[in-house]
Amino acid sequence: MSTRRIAIFGATGSIGLNTLDVIEQLGGRDSFELTAVTGNANVEALAKKAIDHGARMAVTADETRYKALKEALSGSGITPAAGTSGLSEAARMDNDMVMAAIVGTAGLKPTLEAAKAGADIALANKECLVSAGPLFMEAIAAGGGTMVPVDSEHSAVFQVFEENQRRALERVIITASGGPFRTKSLEEMRHVDVATARAHPNWSMGLKISIDSASMFNKALEMIEAMHLFALKPEQVEVIVHPQSIIHSMVGYADGSVLAQLGAPDMRTAIGYALAYPNRPALSVERLDFAKLARLDFEAPDETRFPALRLARVAMARGGLQGSVLNGAKEVALEAFIDGRCGFLEMAEITESVMDSLSHLPAAIDIDDIYAADAEARRRAAGLVRA
Ligand code: NDP
Repeated sequence: MSTRRIAIFGATGSIGLNTLDVIEQLGGRDSFELTAVTGNANVEALAKKAIDHGARMAVTADETRYKALKEALSGSGITPAAGTSGLSEAARMDNDMVMAAIVGTAGLKPTLEAAKAGADIALANKECLVSAGPLFMEAIAAGGGTMVPVDSEHSAVFQVFEENQRRALERVIITASGGPFRTKSLEEMRHVDVATARAHPNWSMGLKISIDSASMFNKALEMIEAMHLFALKPEQVEVIVHPQSIIHSMVGYADGSVLAQLGAPDMRTAIGYALAYPNRPALSVERLDFAKLARLDFEAPDETRFPALRLARVAMARGGLQGSVLNGAKEVALEAFIDGRCGFLEMAEITESVMDSLSHLPAAIDIDDIYAADAEARRRAAGLVRA
């Protein structure tokens, strides 16, 4: 593999740190030149990673932390930068690839800029496609780069998606572990707390994404992402509950064949695939032992107990800015649940109500429309939480 210039957006987070680990496994500086690393609050950790991995630039999104970052980098020769302009500078560097792993809507602008500048995008951030799918796919096409998904389900689909057989494509089947409440009744779910909701059975992830997995909002976002990423009709996106999380997703074709990607639940496989694409890298991750696994189980998803899945279908059918509205409202409801200001099931009720009240919004022309829809959805959701 020739040396690739890569920027890591969100380098101090779970995906960012795993990306740095994978870069080391793939040959470190012999294989990758780190153009920039970005973070937000953790400037000490950001500076350390920048120095350890020889980045050219380090950017904190928080302008008030610029001085601290500059001090932490002093004598290293690494350029410090901050704020939106710093992120923008990193996006427009001579990147062959950008790992887009900033959490939330803050990731939209820099990732869009990097796509327009022609970099390949390894996409972990969910908001990019959920909130702004058509804009992102247009930016990638205009820039001439490739979008390789990092979310394990989309990476799986990407790995078995036969683009040259698109006419024979029938469906994409996204697997879901079912989370910690897979077998709980609606009544039981009404009273669950944050500690039980965050205990994911298979994956080790951050607080918000773990709770989104418990409510299946995470799967809802993945359905919308898949529709945009693979240019699918809403009805071509299916979900199946698969508690072991060994099959990461599947694609069904017109001859009845279903192609699946399997592996141990470890994000480094999907990250490595994105970084080395179109080659398959050697990674020291756990190998599957099928004799030990013995069985793989499947269940139909229950949209009554997990209304987030139904809301994804509504957003996909309505189109326009509904993805952005779903995400913005859900974020506010999620924060309220974490702070004890709303119940677990109320998250979906609040989100649905906001989606219905903003169902008239037209498609986005530019990123400002996305931010405006997101802000309005958040404002309305906050009002409902207070009520
Ligand atoms: P983390 O919360 O662990 O890390 C988030 C990163 O974004 C950190 O580097 C953080 O910097 C930075 N950041 C936070 N706020 C801002 C901001 N306002 N502006 C710019 N940067 C900011 O998230 P994860 O790594 O878990 O996830 C990253 C994205 O990937 C998310 O969208 C998530 O949904 C998605 N994803 C994650 C998976 C996982 O297994 N973790 C799986 C699939 C997708 P700092 O640390 O300095 O605050």
